[in-house]
Amino acid sequence: FQAEDGIRDFCLSRGLGDVYKRQILDHGKNPRNLGKFENFNKDAKGHNPLCGDKVHVYLKVDENKKISDIKFEGHGCAISMASASIMTELMKGKDQKEVNELIEDFLKMIKDNPDLESNLISEDDKTKLMSLSGVKKYPMRVKCATLPWHTLISAMTNKPGEVNTEKED
Ligand code: ZN
Repeated sequence: FQAEDGIRDFCLSRGLGDVYKRQILDHGKNPRNLGKFENFNKDAKGHNPLCGDKVHVYLKVDENKKISDIKFEGHGCAISMASASIMTELMKGKDQKEVNELIEDFLKMIKDNPDLESNLISEDDKTKLMSLSGVKKYPMRVKCATLPWHTLISAMTNKPGEVNTEKED
């Protein structure tokens, strides 16, 4: 394992399946859609002070309310980076209704639901998202995984100010 200590310990000791471990390590080390692009029309920042994770999500939402492009900047633990990477891959090309459904499904799964329910998710994407399900038992890690998703909600709804995992309403 080449990953940072925290995530290596997490992956090795928490009984995550091999497929799931590979996904988190892959996306955590080499996040997709990392960076910023010129013509974004929505964005939001998020901060998880408990872990030090920071993300800035940039969106281009077109006239059909479809996310035509999405990228993020940020730094933090592998869980937060993997979650942002997987989320941005999943959201590209989705319209507002689909985005809302996927966010709701993911947030339910990461808290209570044993599985994802949305039929918008392909088997491949499901494996990626479920790789994050191992954080369920660790409240501090749940915040790492959900930070990019709450930040996306904030961007979609033009909420002012920074998302802070310690100041959720
Ligand atoms: Zn974190």
